[in-house]
Amino acid sequence: SSASAASTASGAPAAPAARAAEPMVRAESVMKSFGSNTVLKSISLEVGRGEVMCIIGPSGSGKSTFLRCINHLEKVNGGRLFVDGELIGYRQRGDKIYELHPKEAALQRRDIGMVFQRFNLFPHLTVLENIIEAPQRVKRQGRDAAVKRATELLARVGLADKAKAYPASLSGGQQQRVAIARALAMEPKLLLFDEPTSALDPELVGEVLDVMKSLAASGMTMIVVTHEMGFAREVADSLVFMDGGVVVEAGDPRQVITDPQHERTKAFLSKVL
Ligand code: ADP
Ligand code: MG
Repeated sequence: SSASAASTASGAPAAPAARAAEPMVRAESVMKSFGSNTVLKSISLEVGRGEVMCIIGPSGSGKSTFLRCINHLEKVNGGRLFVDGELIGYRQRGDKIYELHPKEAALQRRDIGMVFQRFNLFPHLTVLENIIEAPQRVKRQGRDAAVKRATELLARVGLADKAKAYPASLSGGQQQRVAIARALAMEPKLLLFDEPTSALDPELVGEVLDVMKSLAASGMTMIVVTHEMGFAREVADSLVFMDGGVVVEAGDPRQVITDPQHERTKAFLSKVL
């Protein structure tokens, strides 16, 4: 299928059936620079619906920037990014491409969840209030419905007894699980994780990875920047190695890990395995 399947000739949103045939994420020759520093050189990849992609690579290789482009936190300078068949940040009409109005961009963005290395919970709100904030404010969900859903999500991440706790009273692993529940409360169709366990004490990493594993098993589409190679091997459908703003190598995680084809991949893996 071609990218044009995502939109009709007039630029109107594609019919659901046409969208369903598209991968959840498609990057076509994505470029991003900051001034003269070209951080993403020509990133092309696809993440299928319900799939998990892990991205690894040295610091400064452009991993966070790539996630931020998907999540509207940065604008690409070239190429195209599609999520669920929709061009991110832009609308296409024939050969012309227009930037989306901020309100339209916000609509696209609210279906994409992101979990950061630092949990970014609101410190003055309880766990429950952290989770119901966005559904109420952004989705105009009623308080009762939002509380009901938040309670279910807290149970799902193993924190049913922490609804009334404040973030500062929780461990880093618990805070990160709240951050995941908060992202899920918006019912995203795509979840992005940017090194979700790198700020955690080693003994707290497992509980967060377990939650992510169960999310993957439930069919959530996820892109995970991580150096947890066990997780990548066990959970990911594909593994991408980025270096210097390019995809050096990508493929089946077991294959990439056990039989890397490029010297740069070998050198990197020897440091993280
Ligand atoms: P990674 O997540 O792989 O460590 P990043 O995407 O954070 O890499 O950064 C890639 C490069 O982009 C780095 O050289 C970084 O300095 C640069 N960069 C990232 N964000 C900005 C920004 N907002 N302004 C200028 N340079 C940036
Ligand atoms: Mg980063």
